[in-house]
Amino acid sequence: MGLPWLISLLLLGPWQSPGSAVPLQGQYSSPVGQFWHVTDLHLDSTYQLADDHTKVCASSKGENASSPGIFGDYMCDSPYQLILSAFKYMKDIRQPASFMIWTGDSPPHVPVQELSTKTVIEVIANMTATIREHFPDLQVFPALGNHDYWPQDQLPVADSDIYSAVADLWRPWLTDEAITTLRKGGYYSQIYKSTSSANPLRIISLNTVLYYGPNKVTLNMTDPGNQLEWLEDTLECSRQKMEMVYIIAHVPVGYLPFTENITAVRTHFNERLVKLFRKYSNIIAGQFYGHTHRDSIMVLLDEQGNPVNSLFVAPAVTPIRSVKETDSNNPGFRLYQYKPDDYSLLDIWQYYLNLTEANIKKEPHWKLEYLMTKAYDIDDLRPGHLYDLSKKFTDSHSQQFAMYYKHFLVSFDDHVGCNKQCKINQLCAIQCLDETSYVGCINRGVL
Ligand SMILES: [Zn+2]
Repeated sequence: MGLPWLISLLLLGPWQSPGSAVPLQGQYSSPVGQFWHVTDLHLDSTYQLADDHTKVCASSKGENASSPGIFGDYMCDSPYQLILSAFKYMKDIRQPASFMIWTGDSPPHVPVQELSTKTVIEVIANMTATIREHFPDLQVFPALGNHDYWPQDQLPVADSDIYSAVADLWRPWLTDEAITTLRKGGYYSQIYKSTSSANPLRIISLNTVLYYGPNKVTLNMTDPGNQLEWLEDTLECSRQKMEMVYIIAHVPVGYLPFTENITAVRTHFNERLVKLFRKYSNIIAGQFYGHTHRDSIMVLLDEQGNPVNSLFVAPAVTPIRSVKETDSNNPGFRLYQYKPDDYSLLDIWQYYLNLTEANIKKEPHWKLEYLMTKAYDIDDLRPGHLYDLSKKFTDSHSQQFAMYYKHFLVSFDDHVGCNKQCKINQLCAIQCLDETSYVGCINRGVL
């Protein structure tokens, strides 16, 4: 898995200039901070434009690719060319960014025997190098995904070859203290040093794959890797030091929005995480996840029903869908804007590539998909405003919800709709992160 990306690098063409879809100076009266979020790159280095459509990519697992082109196919994980085009666009639009969060999943969706510890490390090394080549001076905060291990999902609770490898690969970005816990359990926390802000920001990168259903290593463990104890200690310490916190991780908390009554992590771990996040909500300024490959929001409510936290699940760079799904997502990544005083979230600039169009034109014309405050006519992304928005979604013909569902699939298809049950599942997942409130929401059938 080492060579194809080097070759692709040499083939990199002089693509179109990125256009004007960039945040404007002076949009807010006070200064604004920005950071990037990329997730679920899922490189498939076997991707090739073979005449036999079952042989385009290993990640289609023998199924026909749907309409393969140089930037990929909705039945396949990302060709290197797609990933390169994403980072090239991010670099070309020259957004001043304080840092980047990268919430995991570099290897492809292929049968377990087609990968190994060695190939998984190679893919993560390749993606790390690609990010560093495009952003040599940018602080990056990575988190591990369920595919960033071999066999997939089985992330362990003690040191392993892969934890050691990523600790070495990510050393340029992380402190010694962060490297120590990353090497042991795949998680860490680190201060982002800002020159302009009153309070420091702590990034807590959780290894939520330890709580993921398919992880057999952690079955029957009450606190895998002692991460929950560490998380509570870290949050308590941040509270005492007046730090603000961003939580980043691959597998999100809460319920999956595209199905009913399934949490992304095991239910009992979800309950414990939600409880902890409620307890420390006044210092948690945002939570950022990947994994579902879809674009969604959640609003954490406290026990009295007040909105206390904003959570964001960013869509994937990979466009892959499984043969059972009818919908997919276009490739996407995003830029967040925050208020430097308290790190509260002001906006999202969501970028995407219309994959079908890019393949036809043989040019990756990345563009702005939406600006969150404009798309939904809200002031900012603080919990109260996100909660008000989610209440507007409940109207039976809510235009805002239609927009939200289009964005959920990264504008994959303008005509695809969300029926009544689909909408209930979506709305309950946005507002109800714990079991009691979620089950109540589903049973009521309305919010
Ligand atoms: Zn993924």
